[in-house]
Amino acid sequence: MPWDFEFTKEQEDLRMVIREFAEKHIAPRIIEFEEKRMIPNEIIEGLAKLDVFGVVLPEKYGGLGLDPITAGVILEEIVRADLTFSLAVAYLVHTSWGYIASKYGSEKFNEEIITKAAKGRLWIGIATTEPQAGSDVAGIKSEARKEGSYYILNGEKAYISGIREAREQFPDGGGHLTLVYTDKTKKHRGMTFFYVPMRSPGITYRLEKEFGRKGWSFGSFAMENVKIPEEYRIGEEGRGFYIAMEGFDHARAYIALANAVGTKRALEIAAEYIKQRTAFGQPIAKFEGVQFQLAQHWAEAEAAYNLAYKALWALKKEMEGKINRFEVTKICAAAKYFAVTTAKKALDDAMRWMGAYAYTEENPVALALKAVKSYDWAEGALEIMLLIIAREVLGREFIR
Ligand SMILES: Cc1cc2nc3c(=O)[nH]c(=O)nc-3n(C[C@H](O)[C@H](O)[C@H](O)COP(=O)(O)OP(=O)(O)OC[C@H]3O[C@@H](n4cnc5c(N)ncnc54)[C@H](O)[C@@H]3O)c2cc1C
Repeated sequence: MPWDFEFTKEQEDLRMVIREFAEKHIAPRIIEFEEKRMIPNEIIEGLAKLDVFGVVLPEKYGGLGLDPITAGVILEEIVRADLTFSLAVAYLVHTSWGYIASKYGSEKFNEEIITKAAKGRLWIGIATTEPQAGSDVAGIKSEARKEGSYYILNGEKAYISGIREAREQFPDGGGHLTLVYTDKTKKHRGMTFFYVPMRSPGITYRLEKEFGRKGWSFGSFAMENVKIPEEYRIGEEGRGFYIAMEGFDHARAYIALANAVGTKRALEIAAEYIKQRTAFGQPIAKFEGVQFQLAQHWAEAEAAYNLAYKALWALKKEMEGKINRFEVTKICAAAKYFAVTTAKKALDDAMRWMGAYAYTEENPVALALKAVKSYDWAEGALEIMLLIIAREVLGREFIR
């Protein structure tokens, strides 16, 4: 198999465009994201003008039709500028689930929704989790029944990202790919995915006060007799669980990259600090104990970065029909697991080297540590990543 660690000229050119925007418009305002618990409209509009929200969406529906590796290059620049990860969540959730929605959505859905999603006028999220069921997806209770050419949805989704933005902030709103039962007797094979616009009649919602990455909302929504046209069903009836698992792979690969890049950026910031700050008559960077920790974390972050790109490469190969679905799932789970565990250890140490100054709401390393903690769970708990890897390595018969 040929190896190539180079990005293309087009990818590097795109990186420079995003970097310029990110350094000028995003980096100076990240504390505001946390304080106001939102990303300013000008930033969303600016990214939309750069076609960032349509990078992997099909050209036929207004997207750029590019691959996940190119989407990763954009994500790198977003994370480097915003260590709160709020914009990373906005971008990677929409990029992953927007792609899945377009792939399995009807022509009418693509024309009505994906064309707006590609231009950043509308945001697409994911809603599988419920108050009583997260990791155990089959434990969801929400359901849909067919009435003519509509489905009527009832149930409640919890700990969902981007409800406020899809309901209030994006010009044409947005919605979530929502997993419900259409036939409870069939368990996983009885689940179906629907695109549920957050402005639909019958939706009520409540937001949580999240621990970190406060610029992107996180909360619950209830569906009471929400009427969804059959064209907004994403994939066939009974395929929802499997389509959701495919979408998780995309999200996990981007999460892995965000964590690896966030770790590298935080280590750079901490390194600059300890080169300047002195203790006992010398820069803190001269203490070998600190140097060795920094070097170990850098080595792990570099490994996490490369594994994340391997996961994005696997997604690209899958789009080209050149790799098996289970192999992709295994690599994406490994990438998420490794990057998140690496990030938490590195950021914890980096914060400590920075002393009490790190324990403030403005310290980017502290903001990053709070953000990466969310990935103990978001888009699949770390233990579920290990179960997936074990299942693929040992065989399904060894996993319950
Ligand atoms: C910031 C944030 C954003 C989120 N955004 C979304 C979103 O947009 N859409 C959405 O649908 N969901 C979202 N979630 C929810 C997320 O998907 C769930 O938190 C996750 O799937 C875990 O489910 P749970 O929280 O119910 O934990 P549970 O399933 O109750 O598990 C709790 C813990 O038990 C352990 N555990 C569970 N099962 C096993 C097992 N089989 N083996 C070993 N240990 C196990 C793990 O330690 C796990 O962390 C978000 C979560 C967070 C924190």
